[in-house]
Amino acid sequence: MNVENLYQEIILDHYKNPRGKHLLDQPAGESHQVNPTCGDEVTVQVSLDEVGHLHVGYEGQGCSISQASASVMAEMVEGVHPEEANAVRLAFIELMHSKGVGEPDEDVLGDGVAFAGVSKYPARIKCALLPWMALQDAEGKAGISTPTQEGTI
Ligand code: ZN
Repeated sequence: MNVENLYQEIILDHYKNPRGKHLLDQPAGESHQVNPTCGDEVTVQVSLDEVGHLHVGYEGQGCSISQASASVMAEMVEGVHPEEANAVRLAFIELMHSKGVGEPDEDVLGDGVAFAGVSKYPARIKCALLPWMALQDAEGKAGISTPTQEGTI
């Protein structure tokens, strides 16, 4: 199996078996984002626990890219420090801007590396970034500070 097929398998697996797809009992912040060009929707909720770890839940519908990306996001940022979540988000954004020639770091991105090929297709980049945009917005609404300048999509 070549890398491209493997990546497609990973995306399909997240689409069919989404991780962390649920809403939180007591979200501190929530963001609903829509990608009208494709019809994708995602609602991301966040909260911080007493030791300062991020908890994330989401609901959504749309294409396999947007929903698999939400699943990967939930898997990668659940239970981590907001700064770490931000590092993952920035790495994912960078990958999406790599025009298909990025060399993603699996240690940082986990299954997010599977989206490397998506960066070749401008129309799909929005799909992939939608949940990460919602994450940033939800964190902002929850008062969880994330550096905004370089991280703005
Ligand atoms: Zn889409």
